[in-house]
Amino acid sequence: MSRETVHESFRVLSRFQLLSMTDIQDNFAKQLFGKYATAQDGEHLVFNGKSAVNESIVAHSGGSEYLFDLTELQSLEHRPEIGTIDKNPFEKPEPELTVLSSFGNKDEFRIVLNKFPVVPAHFMMVTKQFKSQDTPLSPSELSSTYSLLHKLEAQDLNKKWFAFYNCGPQSGASQPHKHVQFMPLPDNYTPFAEVLANTSGHFIPNQFQEPLQDGNLPFAHFLAKLPEKNTELDEETLALTFLSLLQRTLTVLRDNEAGHISYNVIATTKFIMLIPRSKAKFQGSLGINSCGYMGLILCKNASLVGLVKSEGPLAILSSVGFPSTAGQKSDEYHY
Ligand code: AMP
Ligand code: AMP
Repeated sequence: MSRETVHESFRVLSRFQLLSMTDIQDNFAKQLFGKYATAQDGEHLVFNGKSAVNESIVAHSGGSEYLFDLTELQSLEHRPEIGTIDKNPFEKPEPELTVLSSFGNKDEFRIVLNKFPVVPAHFMMVTKQFKSQDTPLSPSELSSTYSLLHKLEAQDLNKKWFAFYNCGPQSGASQPHKHVQFMPLPDNYTPFAEVLANTSGHFIPNQFQEPLQDGNLPFAHFLAKLPEKNTELDEETLALTFLSLLQRTLTVLRDNEAGHISYNVIATTKFIMLIPRSKAKFQGSLGINSCGYMGLILCKNASLVGLVKSEGPLAILSSVGFPSTAGQKSDEYHY
């Protein structure tokens, strides 16, 4: 068999894998919302969103406008700040929170509701075996994430869902056991990343074509637009796309002598974006994770809301990230 034939067989196989898994979850959204309602009725989860106060704010940079959604929420005290490997809620997730006890091409995941959701039905894809949250997303973790995003797009027509992965010690993660989270966006809200994705057709970034980065934003972010048609998305495309974004992310961390590997991953059916992270918290008090780079900032009290307004969300995201590298090309010194 020639190399091309092997390559083509792999493409066909990986496309088949992505599709075959989507076929088994035809009522996923129904199962998800059903489980959420039962868990809430039985008080197995602590819904934190009831007393939330939302506010939109607009920030300006380089002649562009950016929309942020601030959520002030005072009832987060029940949520564990930091989990440990010994006290690990994902080792044996609560049955009342478990939407699917087996998921993935190799049945390697569970689908579990977030016990402390801020928005209804916030859930996670958790590995069954312990895997570190410091490890990059594998091809099967990526394709399983996309199977879920495609199902949600087809079955929950009222909401736009996104997936996020907080990787590494300064990314804003609290649990060390590997988990990808899924949350719907607020209604009528378009994050800057979606605007950026709409400026381009699909390509896998390479040494001639850099990932998309909005040059008017002050912080480094690397975005790749996915193929328009879900049926053209296979595991290999996802893995190569993720890797190309991870290469730029690692270069930024190395060039800034970060001393750790921390980044946020945001995935929608349209794009994947990675953001290298320098710190988990702004001024030691305001925690920022992937959601912050979707423009969603959660504040645990009124003084943090004041802090976001006085410093400005773009300055905050810059401080916990790294300076933009827009316009820079990859060279032989880059990963
Ligand atoms: P992260 O902070 O990104 O590591 O995400 C971990 C998530 O797990 C948090 O959003 C918590 O609300 C959630 N969590 C903590 N304990 C449990 C539990 N026992 N069952 C389900 N989710 C939990
Ligand atoms: P965790 O922090 O680990 O509980 O993961 C969930 C995180 O998602 C929260 O801490 C927030 O940072 C973020 N998040 C959840 N819901 C919202 C929301 N409605 N707006 C902004 N951020 C949110």
